[in-house]
Amino acid sequence: MLSTLLRYIEEKHYCPHCSGDLTLCHAPPVHVGDGLGWGSEYLFICLNDSCPLFIKGWEFIANQYGHVGSYRFMELPNSKEHFSMMVISREAFTGSIVDVEEVKRQNERYQGQQLALAAFDTCLEKKELDPVLTILLDESVQVDDRKRAIGLLVPLNDIACVEPLRNHAFRDPHLEQEVNLAIGKILAAHFLKECPHCAELIKARATVCKHCQRELAA
Ligand SMILES: [Zn+2]
Ligand SMILES: [Zn+2]
Repeated sequence: MLSTLLRYIEEKHYCPHCSGDLTLCHAPPVHVGDGLGWGSEYLFICLNDSCPLFIKGWEFIANQYGHVGSYRFMELPNSKEHFSMMVISREAFTGSIVDVEEVKRQNERYQGQQLALAAFDTCLEKKELDPVLTILLDESVQVDDRKRAIGLLVPLNDIACVEPLRNHAFRDPHLEQEVNLAIGKILAAHFLKECPHCAELIKARATVCKHCQRELAA
């Protein structure tokens, strides 16, 4: 889906009525005219309010059909197939404009996830925690990949994972539980524990916290 959208974003479509750029929009769920689908989730639409088709359309529809409306020019992506689409207000479609910047941000995030997942094969040998955290701290990654990341925490045995993981709000309580187990094992392997009062890392055998000076239960 994302790759299709990225391709569409690069397409240039022009309105033959006003020569303006067409805007990429989400297609309405059904073809308003005849109830058929568009055959595309996206449409390129001329949203130029000064477009002659749009300006003349109001009068034409009033005379022809006796109601309020006009036309917007539109083309299907990846084709020159086009329509003059009836709209009943100036605002029609302006709420369905594809947020190009958001699509690009999503794509960057996706590319980052793919790089991190690819690094899983070598991150133990290279002692790289970053790819594991990238996947684990991203709620949009599917759960199987995040479980693979959890599986790498203990073998990596990097204490630097504790703070970012503790500061993350996991939406999935099972994942959070598995993360907590892994953190417990990593702390134990370093002979460390978290102070229950101030959350600083301290020696496992400390009886007083060196950070907050509070006493610790044995
Ligand atoms: Zn136009
Ligand atoms: Zn403390």
